[in-house]
Amino acid sequence: MSGLIACHECDLMQRVGTLPEGSTATCVRCGAILHKRKPNSIERTLAFALSGLILFGVTNAFPFLSLKIGAQVQETKLITGILELHKSGMSEIAFLVFFTTILVPFLQLTGILYVVLSVRFGRLYPKFRRVFRYINLLQPWGMMEVFMLGILVSIVKLAKMAKIIPGISIFAFFALIVVIAAAISSLDMHLVWEKCDQYRKKHR
Ligand SMILES: [Zn+2]
Repeated sequence: MSGLIACHECDLMQRVGTLPEGSTATCVRCGAILHKRKPNSIERTLAFALSGLILFGVTNAFPFLSLKIGAQVQETKLITGILELHKSGMSEIAFLVFFTTILVPFLQLTGILYVVLSVRFGRLYPKFRRVFRYINLLQPWGMMEVFMLGILVSIVKLAKMAKIIPGISIFAFFALIVVIAAAISSLDMHLVWEKCDQYRKKHR
């Protein structure tokens, strides 16, 4: 049963065929958008995911913030900050920060890349469907923007005590938030399932 979509507004089931690029299918009953076929979805998502991985590398390899008190300068990387949390007895928070700002973004980026490359080269890599489902499951767990907000608040508070020098990593982190959001929103979920079906039919 391919092409059946339930309207997320009024729950009416209706059949939507393959849409031409850039066009939109709307619900016959309530007019809500059922599916929007995004132009160049696969190529754009691929570009975002690749730049995301580069930014991810920069975010984790370079200093995040430097604190200058008197003549003393202390550099912190994202991971050393997390280890500090762990050392000072806040292991749960350390794990949460690690999970939401390092692990989830990494899994999201590699997962998207895996799915997009698979579709791009017209073959289903192993566990394709599971990986694709995980991308959606992970989405609520990426909380880089919450972390960023926390950082900004503490910068304002610390500014009275020390001079704060932002590192390259913090800018890459900021860009990474935008790039991950762009990669997810440019990925056309329906198109991926459509390709998945086509492939399965061809190789049955
Ligand atoms: Zn509807």
